[in-house]
Amino acid sequence: SLTARLSEAFRRLRGRGRLTEADVDQALREIRLALLEADVSVKVVRPLIGRIREKAVGAEILKSLNPAQQVVKIVYDELVDLLGGTLAELNLARRPAVILMVGLQGAGKTTTAGKLARHLAGRGKKPLLVAADVTRPAAVTQLEVLGRSIDVPVHLPGALTDPVAIAEAGLARARAEERDVVIVDTAGRLHIDAALMAELEAVKAAVRPDEILLVVDAMTGQEAVAVAERFHAALTLTGVILTKLDGDTRGGAALSVKAATGVPIKFAATGERLDALEPFYPDRMASRILGMGDVLTLIEKAQAEVDEQKARELERKLRRAEWTLTDFLDQLRQLKKMGPLEELLKMIPGVGARLGQIQVDEKQLARLEAIILSMTPEERERPEIINYSRRKRIAAGSGTTVADVNRLLKQFEEARKLMKQMAKMGGKKGKGPRGF
Ligand code: GDP
Ligand code: MG
Repeated sequence: SLTARLSEAFRRLRGRGRLTEADVDQALREIRLALLEADVSVKVVRPLIGRIREKAVGAEILKSLNPAQQVVKIVYDELVDLLGGTLAELNLARRPAVILMVGLQGAGKTTTAGKLARHLAGRGKKPLLVAADVTRPAAVTQLEVLGRSIDVPVHLPGALTDPVAIAEAGLARARAEERDVVIVDTAGRLHIDAALMAELEAVKAAVRPDEILLVVDAMTGQEAVAVAERFHAALTLTGVILTKLDGDTRGGAALSVKAATGVPIKFAATGERLDALEPFYPDRMASRILGMGDVLTLIEKAQAEVDEQKARELERKLRRAEWTLTDFLDQLRQLKKMGPLEELLKMIPGVGARLGQIQVDEKQLARLEAIILSMTPEERERPEIINYSRRKRIAAGSGTTVADVNRLLKQFEEARKLMKQMAKMGGKKGKGPRGF
């Protein structure tokens, strides 16, 4: 599978401490093969590999990632991009909004129409399903049964045999009954043919859909691209729904279809049950293609290492007791990005237990920042020079009171005292045995 091949390529990369350009090229060859094997079209793979190489070779080295991880991250970012970047939502502003389901026979149109109706009903919409596939009587019955099981009304053809007339009647009923979404199920063929396209174009002209969703079987690989291109050329699709992504279906189709047509993938179906439909998140699909665990672990690790680095730097300053208001300001800003002060301090050995002694109200962070910003650089390095007239100036400049400035300086002094104490403790600890 694509996932297995990519994992293998990355595993090999991981073994190396440093990557040479030859290593990167070797990895890219593996990635290229893996993508091709997973039925991603050559048209997609070639430029993708080009972009990855460009970024990998010119990349700024992140301290938190080793070069192999960095290549993985670049591949991941490119995949997310290629899959559309962010979630593409349905355009259902109009009332009633009309959704036309199209696709080859067996792709999953009827099933997905039911799933979509269920999905929308769960979000407070009032859908109406329309059975406009009259090629097989069973198709109408299938939709009727689905509708009943999810408690969504189904508009049946009755005596009508023309899909255009059925779709129009369905739309009229939706207006009369004040439904907000009309989902029109249409006929498919085993292969694309002119008659099918003509029929769908006529339905499109009659009901002017807000969404024309192509339902594609993800298991068909490269074939899915040809199908998507033909349907898009004839109907101008607004979205794709990939079905049968359950089991170990390769993710190649998703990549190719989006890249080849530019049409966003809006949903993914992962089983026969009616709840097996999810909005399509490009980042999740990229993770899936690369091997979910790997990528998530990588990203978590990068995050953890960044935090650890900051904590180590802070620890060094604490131990040397060279902490100034400039550092304090720096830390306030990091805190705003990183979350609770307690979390950061807990990462420093020996601090966790003493946390109670430092009182920083997080809601005051912005005010503390303003006060320090109103000090001169010299005042920040040597707070002892801040006399009453300086305090008045700082309070005025930061829109606070002298009492606020006093409080900050007192807090800072207390924290600094604590640090000197800890610096001594640290010295003793440093002489003891390691690893306990
Ligand atoms: P249509 O001809 O395009 O309307 O396709 P259907 O909705 O009748 O589906 C064809 C077959 O595919 C049915 O047996 C469905 O149960 C099955 N099917 C549809 N979607 C999925 C899916 O996401 N996963 C799996 N495993 N089967 C699916
Ligand atoms: Mg059908």
